[in-house]
Amino acid sequence: MHRKSKQKESILRVVKETNSHPTAEWIYEQVRREIPNISLGTVYRNLRLLKREGEISELSLAGTLSRFDGIVGNHYHFRCGQCGRIFDVDEPANKEIDRRVTQKTGFKVSYHILEFRGLCEDC
Ligand SMILES: [Zn+2]
Ligand SMILES: [Zn+2]
Repeated sequence: MHRKSKQKESILRVVKETNSHPTAEWIYEQVRREIPNISLGTVYRNLRLLKREGEISELSLAGTLSRFDGIVGNHYHFRCGQCGRIFDVDEPANKEIDRRVTQKTGFKVSYHILEFRGLCEDC
């Protein structure tokens, strides 16, 4: 029980301390420095758990590896087409889009996901 919560805490800390939107593999490499015998499966299991508990969020887009995010509220991202890095974009989520789509379709929209693409400052 104690060991389990220590693993989970360590995984949560790694995700919260970076703004790089890491993959599960990257998180695994970081946590392993602290807990050498942890398995990738355990990391995945705890990431799913932390997501369900609302501690972290997951970015998954069709055809890409899941990336994890220490920020949970809906926010926008920018993905560099050259280096593949993902950045948070300081731009409030536009609720107006949700309302318009609801008006047009009758669907009950909870939120939308928006990702900007292009080149980052380093590329
Ligand atoms: Zn770049
Ligand atoms: Zn983010």
